[in-house]
Amino acid sequence: MKRILMITTGGTIASVATSDGFTPGIDGTSLLKMVPVLTGKCDITCSEIFNIDSSNITPRHWQMIAKTIDEVYFDYDGFVISHGTDTMAYTAAALSWMLKNPAKPIVLTGAQVPITLEGTDAKDNLINAFEVACSGVEGVCIVFGNQVISGLHAKKLCSEDFNGFSSINAKPWATIDETGIHWQKSILDRMQTKDESVRMGFRVMPNLEEKVVVLKVIPGMKPDVLEYYYNKGFKGIVIESFGAGGVPNEDNNWLPALEWAINSGMTVVCSTQCIYDGVNLRKYPIGVLAERLGAKSAGLQTIEATVTKLMWDLAN
Ligand code: ASP
Repeated sequence: MKRILMITTGGTIASVATSDGFTPGIDGTSLLKMVPVLTGKCDITCSEIFNIDSSNITPRHWQMIAKTIDEVYFDYDGFVISHGTDTMAYTAAALSWMLKNPAKPIVLTGAQVPITLEGTDAKDNLINAFEVACSGVEGVCIVFGNQVISGLHAKKLCSEDFNGFSSINAKPWATIDETGIHWQKSILDRMQTKDESVRMGFRVMPNLEEKVVVLKVIPGMKPDVLEYYYNKGFKGIVIESFGAGGVPNEDNNWLPALEWAINSGMTVVCSTQCIYDGVNLRKYPIGVLAERLGAKSAGLQTIEATVTKLMWDLAN
């Protein structure tokens, strides 16, 4: 039997109904007991490292998850992390940068409806997550609803729907239906031709720079916010602007402030408010001029992957 470590962290999946709304209150062992079919499928050890709403997650919590995996990496065949859905895509992206060369499945899952309630999606998601954790697929992914999504491409798009996550700018690793998990061919090929040298190369690089911010631009917004964040000690800024990316350059001209911020040592990455198709700074002057001053492009990355990459890059 495959040995799987289940790391529980809270979220709706582990919540109970209270007068203040759903609150994490079910410990890891009880969560597992509610899906008895799992114990026949693999040998599961449970480790509850915290039990919180994922809106309260910080980079320190990502580091706790990474450290937990690092300490016992060679004792298990795979890892399932139960987690709130609200910031699961950030955690998945952060772990994807911090865990280098993982040769085992590291699977995040959660639920839109607590496991304690009628009609919950928690049990199906857990069953599928454990199946993926036993599959031998490599790396960080989210198993949710009918998809297995790379940790670097996942985004929560729905606050209620059971298929709440989408795979952005990449095909999902697999789709799930009542007949099972259907892997994309390239993922299947990779599973079957595992490279031993990569398998041995696992290591955790947990350092992150927390003085990073995402700035969502709105029409007419003044560029002096860059100076504000610089004065507050921020080292990196993701400018989430419009369309193919860039900054306003006419009456409300951001370019001088951008140049000043970059010359002062800030790293500036241009991202977009569009969900799909990513950034192309070469398409319009607003992007060309920003890039010429040293702004970087988020490319096809989600905002979650972009901001966690910036945190990681600035600390490594
Ligand atoms: N607020 C919850 C959380 O992220 C939502 C969920 O888990 O679905 O912890």
